[in-house]
Amino acid sequence: MQQSNYIGRCFCGELELSVSGRPTAMGFCHCASCRSWAAAPVNAFTLWTSGRVKVTRGEPGVFHKTDSSYRQFCRTCGGHLMTAHPRFDLIDVYAATLPSLELVPELHVHYQESVLPLRDGLPKFRDLPEEMGGLGERLE
Ligand SMILES: [Zn+2]
Ligand SMILES: [Zn+2]
Repeated sequence: MQQSNYIGRCFCGELELSVSGRPTAMGFCHCASCRSWAAAPVNAFTLWTSGRVKVTRGEPGVFHKTDSSYRQFCRTCGGHLMTAHPRFDLIDVYAATLPSLELVPELHVHYQESVLPLRDGLPKFRDLPEEMGGLGERLE
């Protein structure tokens, strides 16, 4: 497989990261935590195994309200970069952080908390798929 690298930057450009290969999954998270953190009705995520993500410039600030999500941001502009999920060894690099990666969403997660119903035919999980630690229940 051809090696792919994607460069991500925060809003001001002081922080830079690079991801390599292909994401484990891409989709949309509707949970209240993502919405509050992003100040947006939905969060477009791309999940990568942690070894694929490298911060190449600057040092992000980190905030964790719970042990399952370490949210990383730029201390200068406040822009959000990614959220680490150490339990799964996965990092959600927000799709908006990686402008050169084509977003090909596969699923919606935490759809029970949605404030923005979307009709795109993709599977909508009440919480998470089983392989991501959820119940795996789908909503219409
Ligand atoms: Zn910044
Ligand atoms: Zn979420």
